[in-house]
Amino acid sequence: MRPVLNWSYRHIMSAVVAVDGEKFDTQVPLIIVGAGAAGLCAALAAKEGGIDAVVIERDDVPSGSTALSAGLIPAAGTRFQREKGIADSPAVFAADIQRKAKGEGDRSVVDVVAARAGPLVEWLSDRYGLPFEVVDNFNYPGHSAMRMHGLPSRTGRELIDRLRNAAEANDIVILAKSTAQRLFADSESRIRGVEVVHRDGTSERIGCKAMVLACNGFGGNPELVGRYIPDMAGALYFGHPGNQGDAVIWGDALGAQLSHLGAYQGHGSVATPHNILITWATIMQGGIQVNGEGRRFCDETRGYSEQAAEVLRQPGGFAWTVFDARIAAVARQFDDFQNAERAGAILTANTIEGLVGDMRTPFAAFAAEWNEVENLKLANGQDRYGRPFRAEQACKPPFHAVKVTGALFHTQGGLAIDSKGRVRRKDGGSFPNLFAAGGAAAGVSGSTAAGYLSGNGLLTATVLGRLTGQTAAEQIQC
Ligand SMILES: Cc1cc2nc3c(=O)[nH]c(=O)nc-3n(C[C@H](O)[C@H](O)[C@H](O)COP(=O)(O)OP(=O)(O)OC[C@H]3O[C@@H](n4cnc5c(N)ncnc54)[C@H](O)[C@@H]3O)c2cc1C
Repeated sequence: MRPVLNWSYRHIMSAVVAVDGEKFDTQVPLIIVGAGAAGLCAALAAKEGGIDAVVIERDDVPSGSTALSAGLIPAAGTRFQREKGIADSPAVFAADIQRKAKGEGDRSVVDVVAARAGPLVEWLSDRYGLPFEVVDNFNYPGHSAMRMHGLPSRTGRELIDRLRNAAEANDIVILAKSTAQRLFADSESRIRGVEVVHRDGTSERIGCKAMVLACNGFGGNPELVGRYIPDMAGALYFGHPGNQGDAVIWGDALGAQLSHLGAYQGHGSVATPHNILITWATIMQGGIQVNGEGRRFCDETRGYSEQAAEVLRQPGGFAWTVFDARIAAVARQFDDFQNAERAGAILTANTIEGLVGDMRTPFAAFAAEWNEVENLKLANGQDRYGRPFRAEQACKPPFHAVKVTGALFHTQGGLAIDSKGRVRRKDGGSFPNLFAAGGAAAGVSGSTAAGYLSGNGLLTATVLGRLTGQTAAEQIQC
């Protein structure tokens, strides 16, 4: 792995300042950098632990990649599942995460997030009134039980707005329009504070007893993406532009251990040119993808993350997701899908001939693929890629197609952490008062895009956010 230090030496040298006895303009117990799901869950947990955090956020209003997401959090053994008769457990969930990650997820972190996800969803619901329900009309690839928990609109905008409301109701200070620029650390690698640059150009130095980095990964930094994720260099970045890799840059300068920088969450179904996420329910319910030549190119159900690069490898870098009215009805639970319909992204026709005409795709090639798949469904058979089909997935008119491309959603590599969320040092052990959560921390997806199990993003944001807030508060109280 090439150290981040190579890419911009000057930037990094000024990113962390060694201090002993530095004077700060203000002193607070806990600083949290970033007001996405991770940062706000950390702040709420710290508050419950008796610690007032200051959350530093570069945007006017908290949004982050959290707001762009579908807001679905996977959790096992919840009462929402029990109410619907869904059998599940943290152990099964942890095994699913590791199966998708090919065993590359840090075991202690995987076990912690799998065990704490259920309590997390119930905590947000019971204590802060977030009305979660379990999605039970389709499942995501790699999950052996229905365990995606979402809010009524199935949007991350609703999730972040509800978290912000909870933070405001609990008098948590969110320092908006303010960017954390440089960290101050003493000779024992204890974080002493941060320099914050406000939107009006002024700056201040805020001292702290502990810090949580919740500023996501480096998806918004093309230079780092090009270096570590060449497959996605130049691809559409669908995440929050403010996620510039600051946690990784600071961590590298501090001597933190960085893990799996090549891992990422991609998505192989973003409507183009409309740039609207098309839910993977379209595939999991029996839809297929073909390229511009009308040909299928893989088992689409392995996962949407690895499908991003697959789609980008097709002629013209696009594909068509094709499905029917029954599948569209399932997809319509997502606001995004409805937006795509309103934007005219979803083609509709009563016959395959009509649909293919609108797609301007060679009919013979498409018809051969379509007929083969529909026959396999009737026979409960498996295709040449190993994708199984079932009779109840048979498609009936009217048919739909949407032109899609592959996109980078967020990076999964980052600061290695221990099971309490403490940032690990390159030379062993952990930093005494530095924590990381969400996209700032190395995820549980291993080293590739294919290792991403649906929901790993918000799983580590919310669960590790809460955990780091709790741990930091306990430490400060001692
Ligand atoms: C389109 C899309 C759909 C997705 N759908 C899902 C889903 O359904 N389920 C799921 O699990 N995951 C999903 N994800 C991934 C998920 O959104 C992220 O993994 C998760 O939101 C990360 O949360 P976070 O709090 O770590 O980061 P963010 O929500 O991105 O928050 C980080 C915040 O830090 C701020 N920041 C950054 N640097 C600084 C700085 N130096 N100073 C001050 N502020 C700073 C940013 O402005 C931002 O507000 C999706 C992602 C995308 C893009």
